[in-house]
Amino acid sequence: MNQIANKPIEIRTAMAKVYCPICTHTVEVAVRTDGRRAKVASGQKCPRCAGSIDAGVIMHIPQAA
Ligand SMILES: [Zn+2]
Repeated sequence: MNQIANKPIEIRTAMAKVYCPICTHTVEVAVRTDGRRAKVASGQKCPRCAGSIDAGVIMHIPQAA
Protein backbone atom coordinates (compact mmCIF):
# COMPACT_ATOMS: atom_id res chain seq x y z
CA MET A 1 0.00 0.00 0.00
CA ASN A 2 1.32 3.37 -0.91
CA GLN A 3 -0.36 6.07 1.01
CA ILE A 4 0.57 9.57 0.11
CA ALA A 5 -0.54 12.26 2.47
CA ASN A 6 -0.73 15.22 0.21
CA LYS A 7 -1.00 18.05 2.61
CA PRO A 8 -1.07 21.43 0.98
CA ILE A 9 1.46 23.80 2.46
CA GLU A 10 -0.39 26.44 4.30
CA ILE A 11 1.09 29.87 3.97
CA ARG A 12 -0.12 32.20 6.60
CA THR A 13 0.82 35.50 8.05
CA ALA A 14 1.30 35.89 11.75
CA MET A 15 2.62 38.45 14.12
CA ALA A 16 5.86 37.31 15.63
CA LYS A 17 8.52 38.64 17.89
CA VAL A 18 11.50 39.55 15.77
CA TYR A 19 14.86 40.73 16.98
CA CYS A 20 15.96 43.87 15.21
CA PRO A 21 19.73 43.89 14.76
CA ILE A 22 19.75 47.62 14.20
CA CYS A 23 18.21 48.84 17.44
CA THR A 24 18.76 45.53 19.25
CA HIS A 25 15.21 45.36 20.44
CA THR A 26 12.61 42.69 19.96
CA VAL A 27 9.65 44.05 18.06
CA GLU A 28 6.45 42.59 16.73
CA VAL A 29 6.21 42.37 12.98
CA ALA A 30 4.34 40.24 10.50
CA VAL A 31 5.99 37.05 9.36
CA ARG A 32 5.02 34.55 6.71
CA THR A 33 5.04 30.93 7.65
CA ASP A 34 4.78 27.98 5.34
CA GLY A 35 4.66 24.84 7.36
CA ARG A 36 7.76 24.74 9.51
CA ARG A 37 9.66 27.68 8.14
CA ALA A 38 9.04 31.29 8.89
CA LYS A 39 10.37 34.40 7.31
CA VAL A 40 9.92 38.05 8.00
CA ALA A 41 7.54 39.50 5.47
CA SER A 42 9.69 41.63 3.24
CA GLY A 43 9.37 45.37 2.99
CA GLN A 44 8.63 45.95 6.63
CA LYS A 45 10.25 48.46 8.87
CA CYS A 46 11.09 48.17 12.51
CA PRO A 47 8.51 50.13 14.53
CA ARG A 48 11.25 51.31 16.86
CA CYS A 49 14.08 52.47 14.63
CA ALA A 50 12.33 52.51 11.24
CA GLY A 51 15.12 50.39 9.83
CA SER A 52 14.50 47.48 7.53
CA ILE A 53 13.55 44.43 9.56
CA ASP A 54 14.27 42.05 6.70
CA ALA A 55 17.43 40.89 8.42
CA GLY A 56 15.68 40.44 11.72
CA VAL A 57 15.80 37.21 13.62
CA ILE A 58 12.50 35.58 14.45
CA MET A 59 12.46 34.88 18.16
CA HIS A 60 9.00 33.52 18.76
CA ILE A 61 6.01 32.73 16.66
CA PRO A 62 2.68 32.17 18.35
CA GLN A 63 1.60 28.78 17.15
CA ALA A 64 -1.97 28.42 16.11
CA ALA A 65 -3.39 25.16 17.38
ZN1 LIG B 1 14.88 48.40 15.10
